[in-house]
Amino acid sequence: MISYKNTAKEIADSGIDMAIIPLGSVEQHSSHLPIGTDVMLAEAIAEGVAERIDALLLPTIPISTCYEHKGVKGSVCMRPITFYQMLQDIVLCLRDQGIKKVAVVLGHGGIFVAGPAIRELNALYDDLQVVLVQTESGVADTKAFLENKKIEIHAGESETSLMLYLHGELVNKELMLQNDFDPEYPQSMLNQAPLTKISKTGAWGMPSLATREKGEKVFKCMIDNALHYIEEAFKICPEDKW
Ligand SMILES: [Zn+2]
Repeated sequence: MISYKNTAKEIADSGIDMAIIPLGSVEQHSSHLPIGTDVMLAEAIAEGVAERIDALLLPTIPISTCYEHKGVKGSVCMRPITFYQMLQDIVLCLRDQGIKKVAVVLGHGGIFVAGPAIRELNALYDDLQVVLVQTESGVADTKAFLENKKIEIHAGESETSLMLYLHGELVNKELMLQNDFDPEYPQSMLNQAPLTKISKTGAWGMPSLATREKGEKVFKCMIDNALHYIEEAFKICPEDKW
């Protein structure tokens, strides 16, 4: 695996033409998970992908756009327009070095501005192929391993299970049993008010159902899904695409 832990010479000698950029977020995750949960998940998922693909794994970008946790001490964000330009600058810097295929791997579901930023790069630069890999927990086939069949937004069964598997020592196993909140609202309600105003526990999902075993299955499924998605997206994203 080639990553930011290699030397510049090793990276040059590898002939690699693809990079992986993991995106995290530093934000409240109820009282049972650390604020760095999305950073750790993005890192682990991107590393799992990088182990099975020829690509340069870059360090996780830890801070993004979590307005939905505004007002909670320790939740840190930047304005979406800042993030938009930062992400585009990083991809264009890679392009200058001949790395024209980029997979941007999301550690959670809330970085909505990443989509338009990537779409614009693909539209304006014919030689670039940038793929947005949405790996947020609780979607698609991962549901087969989980009891809560509703879409979970935050710190629920899926995300807590993943953390039990990857960083169990950082999960508060008593508090995770007390933080369930699973309303009927759509996720778009977060355009109206921060999550902590909607949910008393700061979670949106069912963390009490989480187990390490579910986390292992969900994690492996997410890696497989991400690899499949990257392969398919590059296939329909030729160099003369627009
Ligand atoms: Zn999260």
